[in-house]
Amino acid sequence: GLVLDGVSAAYRDTTVLHEVDLSVARGELLVVLGPSGAGKSTVLRVVAGLEPVTAGRVRIAGRDVTEERPGRRNVSMVFQSYALFPHLTVVENIAFGLEVRDIPRRLARERARAAAETVGCAGLLDRRPGQLSGGERQRVALARALVREPDVFLLDEPLSNLDLALRAEMRTELRALHDRIGATMVHVTHDQTEALVLADRIAVLRDGRVEQVGTPDEIWRTPASSFVARFVGSPA
Ligand code: ATP
Ligand code: MG
Repeated sequence: GLVLDGVSAAYRDTTVLHEVDLSVARGELLVVLGPSGAGKSTVLRVVAGLEPVTAGRVRIAGRDVTEERPGRRNVSMVFQSYALFPHLTVVENIAFGLEVRDIPRRLARERARAAAETVGCAGLLDRRPGQLSGGERQRVALARALVREPDVFLLDEPLSNLDLALRAEMRTELRALHDRIGATMVHVTHDQTEALVLADRIAVLRDGRVEQVGTPDEIWRTPASSFVARFVGSPA
């Protein structure tokens, strides 16, 4: 699992996360929901070790990683932009997820192929990102995250570049993938429908603070503030 204990973070001298407490159980899918600028990406960057904390601790799989550099943390991040390498084929892009580890090339390719199978892009291995649709690129990015077998998956608005129909389809697939591999996931979005459909629990973030944490049902039925109610579109 993953624990953020009183985590604060700042860009220069502007604090953008204020003593954030979050816990994600092993195998749980937590959605961090909030408007633009709330600090969602910063939460993920702090967990990945891409931003330092100014206070608090981060624990991954029972280990305090607060002082550890990104390469030492066993997490995978999927970005909104997918961040695939245009000059590499699909299988090379996926295998790149293993590059930092000392894994023989052949074994890396085998594992890349297996990951591609899992997310349904095994038919695309020799193509380059420029020859893929948005949904296909998304699958490749997921496979590259998957191949590392991370303790925690961090997904930063991974579906926001897809059209409406595909977004709905990938949402369901992502949930199915999560259930199949029993992954611990933190999925960031500003889309309340996505949050309500995907999440085991939702953490609503506002101005760098956790406003409410609860199951989709709790958040929807008993929003803790008018902000939450408005944001998830609760009745009343
Ligand atoms: P969005 O939905 O637009 O992606 P977000 O919830 O992910 O927003 P963050 O990117 O975490 O929000 O940003 C939180 C705050 O930190 C914002 O006020 C933003 O302007 C600021 N911020 C983010 N990155 C930087 C940076 N590199 N330097 C300075 N300020 C930053
Ligand atoms: Mg963001």
